[in-house]
Amino acid sequence: MPVLPIHNSVAVPQSTIYLRPDYYRTMTGREPQQDAKVILIVTKEPIARNAVKPDSFYPIGVAGIVRETNMQGFVTVELDSRVNLEEVEIQPEGGIHLKVSRRPDLDDLDPVDARNRLTAVKEAVLAFGEGKPWQPALRVFAALWTTMGDVAAGLSPWMPGKSEERYALLAEDSKARRFEMMEKMIYENLELMKVGNEVRTAQEEDHQKIYREAAIKKQLEYLQNELDELHPENISDLQKLEQRLHDAPLNELARKECDKVLSRLKQEGKNSAEYGLLYDYLDFLSNLPWGKAEPKDIDLDEAEKILDADHFGLAKVKRRIIQQIAVMNLKKRQSGSILLFVGAPGTGKTSIGQSIAKALGREYVRVSLGGVRDEADIRGHRRTYIGAMPGRILDGISKCGVSNPVMVLDEVDKLSMSYNGDPASALLEVLDPEQNSTFTDHYLNVPFDLSDVFFICTANSLDTIPQPLLDRMELISFQGYTPTEKQEIARLHLLPKAMEAVGIGEGELELSEQAIQAIIDDYTREAGVRGLKKCMDTLCRSAAVHLVRGGEKPMRVEQEDLRELLDMRPLPHRHVKEEAKPGVVTGLAWTPVGGDVLYIETLLTRGGGKTVITGQLGDVMKESAQIAVSLVKHLFPEHANLFEENDLHIHVPDGATPKDGPSAGVTLTSSLSSLVTGIPVPPTIAMTGEVSLQGDVKPIGGLPEKLMAAQRAGVKTVFIPEENVDDLREVAQEVRDALEIIPVRDVEELLGHLGIHPKEPTRIAS
Ligand code: ADP
Repeated sequence: MPVLPIHNSVAVPQSTIYLRPDYYRTMTGREPQQDAKVILIVTKEPIARNAVKPDSFYPIGVAGIVRETNMQGFVTVELDSRVNLEEVEIQPEGGIHLKVSRRPDLDDLDPVDARNRLTAVKEAVLAFGEGKPWQPALRVFAALWTTMGDVAAGLSPWMPGKSEERYALLAEDSKARRFEMMEKMIYENLELMKVGNEVRTAQEEDHQKIYREAAIKKQLEYLQNELDELHPENISDLQKLEQRLHDAPLNELARKECDKVLSRLKQEGKNSAEYGLLYDYLDFLSNLPWGKAEPKDIDLDEAEKILDADHFGLAKVKRRIIQQIAVMNLKKRQSGSILLFVGAPGTGKTSIGQSIAKALGREYVRVSLGGVRDEADIRGHRRTYIGAMPGRILDGISKCGVSNPVMVLDEVDKLSMSYNGDPASALLEVLDPEQNSTFTDHYLNVPFDLSDVFFICTANSLDTIPQPLLDRMELISFQGYTPTEKQEIARLHLLPKAMEAVGIGEGELELSEQAIQAIIDDYTREAGVRGLKKCMDTLCRSAAVHLVRGGEKPMRVEQEDLRELLDMRPLPHRHVKEEAKPGVVTGLAWTPVGGDVLYIETLLTRGGGKTVITGQLGDVMKESAQIAVSLVKHLFPEHANLFEENDLHIHVPDGATPKDGPSAGVTLTSSLSSLVTGIPVPPTIAMTGEVSLQGDVKPIGGLPEKLMAAQRAGVKTVFIPEENVDDLREVAQEVRDALEIIPVRDVEELLGHLGIHPKEPTRIAS
């Protein structure tokens, strides 16, 4: 009987195996013959026919019959029963002699159950083959499978696993156990193959993707190059940017950030959203002035000349600026104290900033802070935000392109807090000489040196500026101009500038002194010269039309022509009232747009001792009013009952700031005293001052503005607190000359001047 050694195949009883005829021939040394009986023995290792030894085999083999010698190129052997190899003898010429005994199976398999399970296994195998290129071949085979052994043997070549595992099937005596082992082996291997396939497909897809991506990128690059060649102007936004960045004297941190962002930019496709953001950032970075300018010596006389050329008056401001320049020269520095210009609109705060820049020979940049509520406006947005932008400070620096501009931060008093952070605290950092050399804008994300910037802040009022911010700055107040100063400013600056702006030559337009005066008095009412400037501009436009139409040269403008040329009505006279009435007294108030006169009116009406206060300053005035009422009751005990038997109505017109409310104390007291005594106070008498419950007149702020307003309104006499006398030095001579200014120490003294004498003059303390 031929002996056929096999290795690592499933060969179990009740199954058919398929062998290549060649293999059969070499392994048995005989031609395959139909119906020949054959014994299969299982080698432990893959082994050549002539190298087999008796111990190369497992102890159990299987006997079968050759059913076909050439079925589609295969020798088919039907296996039927197991044998124990009792003796193995290898002959010198290579033949294998065996002594075998039959090894019976334990017939414990339930045939019905086995059939069902076989069907299930076959279905699973066929399902696995679904869609595979070898599926038709599989179907052919599957049709021949009639036992679990057939299936296991058929799939065996595709199943990984060790030869012991396969031999274990043969070694198993119980048919049921063997059936089960084969079933498990098939299912497990199906799963394994499935997973393997999935992994393989996933890997393939990944690889495909990578190759595809690389290919597309190459293609894009190629197309981009083609495009670039067609349009050399496009080439190289990126290249140009790279060059600029390379040349920019970035500091170390900025260089790092720049390299980082640049490499990200290059990874992004040109059409990605990110690309634009990164590009904008780098563009901004490259445009910032990273280098430092050398401080240069400024000629003080020259600087003074420049300042004088642009602005009339403002002597104090100019003096302070010359001092600052001198200090900067000595210390070889580019900046000094931070100046805060405070004053009404149109008093020249911003424009003198420009002259300062000119005098220093530096760039000028104005940053408006009015209405800024968001910290990010100062410090920038982080780049992760869509639409992120640098803050206004760095934006200003970027626009002027130098690291040492004169930067005017306009309207610092109009900053406000919001839930988006406190811009004022961000500004603190900007203005702090200790910190601003490493100011970090969130957008830029690396420190930028602001220490060479010459900062000037402007404000209309100090009330709303947080104290820490105020502490950083040196205050210089712009008090507004007197009519005479305005006259000069109009003649020397505003008119010539307005003429030049519309192209009117020298000597083509003449304004009489009276006309200018009338504009100042009747067509504008302001502390600064904004309105005046507007009127000059309007006149020049009218003149331009006149001249272009071939009108007479020079065109002369008189007071009477103003109505027509300015096309506006003169403002109603803000002159003080003519008529004096008891209970009405002229007060002076400070407002962010300059000083103003106001009337405090009091009236007793029938009632039962109530006090009504109307007007804007309701709450603030309440306390002042109570003090005044108590004071007047004390001074005029004979009239005290008036307050019990009547209601008192006090009206304080709008206009003054809440902080200035208390400075109406003297006015209120005078008004009430006048009311109870029935003695009127002439409206041309004005006053300002706080009062204490003791009747002392306390100092107030904003004296220059108040006196100027008094003069504008035609007031003749002004009572001021004695403690404010020193402030008169700040008041223009012209204003002092126009007014009778009487300092007073206490209320009784004031009332004495007004001719209202308490019946029994008592010092309140008595
Ligand atoms: P502010 O900043 O105080 O509101 P601006 O600086 O804008 O005022 O001044 C308004 C206009 O008035 C500018 O055209 C400015 O040139 C002019 N001006 C203000 N003060 C003077 C002055 N003293 N001399 C000449 N022009 C002045």
